[in-house]
Amino acid sequence: MNWNRSAESGWANTNGFYQPDLEEALESMALASPTVELRRGWSAASVTQDEDAVTITVSRTGDESRREQLQARWLIAADGANSGIREQLGIESADSNFEADWLVVDYQPIVDRDWDAFVTQYCDPAQPATAVKSGPGRRRFEFMRRADVTVEELNRPETAWRLMRPWGVTSENARLERHAVYTFRGRWAKEWRRGRVFLAGDAAHLMPPFLGQGLCAGLRDARALSWRLSMVASGRASTSILDSYGTERITHVREIIDEAVALGQIICELDPVRASERDARMSAELNDPSDLTVEPPQPRLGVPSVTATGDDHAGTLSVQGRVESDGVAGLFDDVVGGCWQLIALGEDPLAEVSPELREWFLGIGGTATQIADSGPIRDLDDTYHDWFEARGCSVVLSRPDFYIYGTGVLADVPRLLQSLRDEFSKEGALQ
Ligand SMILES: Cc1cc2nc3c(=O)[nH]c(=O)nc-3n(C[C@H](O)[C@H](O)[C@H](O)COP(=O)(O)OP(=O)(O)OC[C@H]3O[C@@H](n4cnc5c(N)ncnc54)[C@H](O)[C@@H]3O)c2cc1C
Repeated sequence: MNWNRSAESGWANTNGFYQPDLEEALESMALASPTVELRRGWSAASVTQDEDAVTITVSRTGDESRREQLQARWLIAADGANSGIREQLGIESADSNFEADWLVVDYQPIVDRDWDAFVTQYCDPAQPATAVKSGPGRRRFEFMRRADVTVEELNRPETAWRLMRPWGVTSENARLERHAVYTFRGRWAKEWRRGRVFLAGDAAHLMPPFLGQGLCAGLRDARALSWRLSMVASGRASTSILDSYGTERITHVREIIDEAVALGQIICELDPVRASERDARMSAELNDPSDLTVEPPQPRLGVPSVTATGDDHAGTLSVQGRVESDGVAGLFDDVVGGCWQLIALGEDPLAEVSPELREWFLGIGGTATQIADSGPIRDLDDTYHDWFEARGCSVVLSRPDFYIYGTGVLADVPRLLQSLRDEFSKEGALQ
């Protein structure tokens, strides 16, 4: 799978890091924000909601007698795979019927060695295994549980050392950092919103980690929710835009779950006969150069969605390239920025838009950018030129989460902006 090319977003398609480092960075950003209050050592218990608000009862962990009630307009339940809030709301999950126990071993090499690939899957039916580079100075191995081994036996440090030995990883050249057994599953909640409560992250979806997409899907949920909630909270959009959070995201994540499960079925094959058939099939496929590179999935948002109707590109990822303006060169988001990005090739994208609609668009945080050889914004690597040419259009309107609202030519811009404005002013069920 070729994850190594640049993605549409202008960044690397994949990045390896150690998850606690990311969580530390997120926590310090939250703590630095004056609008965030972080409460450690409290557990969410019950949730109730009515026309006006949602109320959550929290209790001090280990001391049920210390209780408090917190009230808000909206609640995001990002409480993980075993989400108590999802359960309390009675939201059912759909299951892809994939299940496998794997031992995950994180270690730090004392003697560093080179590894071939970022992620390597060893499809050996005697012991399926995964090797991952997990950020600077760290490595991970994952080993599937075979039927003749119990979870308890698998989850022992001596088992980890034994299973790593064939790769030359021993206590002499590596330090064991942590080990745990996870049950890999493919699952998604059938509803992602109940009134004022939204599910996000593993509370909403679960997938085997073979594509490395679980946290990525959670980040997409966060982005899809945060732009909606911030527009509603600031009065720039009605609550109706919250309705499509689940419909957009469920379709998207299901495609990724299906792909991760399909990959899991290839990797987790324990039957030697079926494994050798698989190997013969894959070897034959590798003889065809066009099959050598498999692209990672790039699903489209589900509908209903906040996108223009009847547009072939709406709901797919937008484009970001390197640009230059007034001697400053960099990625578009750094040089120009903007929540809602309206970009036209060779023309002023707002040339045919009424002053009133223009003012509305700029008021929701929109930016309008003309990309041309003569400026004001220059396309340094022809990214935009090639992108528009491949899609037969010259204008794109992208959302704050980088998905395309709509595409077209200059004459389509008033229609695109007006349809977005209509979408934002539809009456919502809750206020
Ligand atoms: C072996 C493995 C490898 C993975 N590899 C990758 C990868 O390469 N790439 C990738 O993108 N993803 C990967 N993932 C997936 C990724 O780790 C998860 O998707 C991600 O951590 C989920 O984040 P979350 O915040 O939704 O849930 P969690 O990380 O589960 O966080 C939920 C939090 O809610 C808290 N909580 C729960 N209930 C309550 C309550 N009642 N009150 C208060 N707090 C509560 C919990 O304590 C926890 O801190 C992998 C997962 C595994 C298991």
